[in-house]
Amino acid sequence: MATIIDGKAVAQQLRELIRQKALARVASGLRAPGLAVILVGQDPASMIYVASKRKACAECGVTSFAYDLPADVSQAQLLAKIDQLNADPKVDGILVQLPLPLHIDTETVIERIRPDKDVDGFHPYNVGRLAVRLPLLRPCTPYGVMKLLETTGIPFKGQHAIIVGASNLVGRPMGLELLLAGCTVTTTHRFTRDLADYVGAADILISAAGKPGLVKGDWVKPGSVVIDVGITRLPNGKITGDIEFEIAAQRAAWITPVPGGVGPMTVTMLLQNTLYAAEQLHTKL
Ligand code: NAD
Repeated sequence: MATIIDGKAVAQQLRELIRQKALARVASGLRAPGLAVILVGQDPASMIYVASKRKACAECGVTSFAYDLPADVSQAQLLAKIDQLNADPKVDGILVQLPLPLHIDTETVIERIRPDKDVDGFHPYNVGRLAVRLPLLRPCTPYGVMKLLETTGIPFKGQHAIIVGASNLVGRPMGLELLLAGCTVTTTHRFTRDLADYVGAADILISAAGKPGLVKGDWVKPGSVVIDVGITRLPNGKITGDIEFEIAAQRAAWITPVPGGVGPMTVTMLLQNTLYAAEQLHTKL
């Protein structure tokens, strides 16, 4: 039976460290790290995510600046708000909650954020830094997965890592993180044939497709590490991942649950990036 990787507990420990560092800054006369969170419209899931990010800021001694804009805000108005926050010396990080309404071009918005305030790590500059092995602000979910993998104590070098999913936000930067750590990386996606064969070869399996039951438990390689990034709310309200947990847990050496695995880590790495930006990138702000 696999050992469960307790994302909640790991996230809690990291948040405590962030809180101590943020308080120490203030005690030494520096300002607290600041995170601006912009929400456009009233998408229920986005409202929940934004509320949890603002709450996490409060718990960790990070000042949060809230901007709730109407769904019909123009792209020009949103970009003007980002320009204002880019220039604000109290703001270390700017987060625009995705998805945005269809009349706004997401890529234009992401690229308007100053790369040294892009604490989500989505700006092509930050993804590029990771690609050339000079990471600066790292995409939060893959960064959180790396922290969870580190807790298992397994050596990364030479492990065959298989990623299911190739999105800009999760799958692609996940591959870059694992490559940087010395894994042999294979990224699969919706056009991949024979997914079972790839999964069966994975020493480290990361699934981020958002398709419940896509990865069958009996595909999992015995003794492997299994990380399920997928989050899907079923019609009965239950949250589930991509991987058949019960069967996979009988084969893997380590496995994350959903919920309580990767989810708590993503917000934690957002705070970590905000602290990093304050400490390393904005010493003169
Ligand atoms: P996305 O829809 O942008 O990307 C999904 C990817 O899965 C695509 O690259 C697609 O090609 C691939 N895919 C689809 N069907 C496949 C198949 N049959 N075989 C192999 N690959 C297949 O989604 P995303 O934004 O990358 O998010 C993925 C999942 O992770 C979602 O469930 C999302 O809710 C979750 N997520 C969780 C966290 C977290 O903090 N735990 C953070 C971000 C996203």
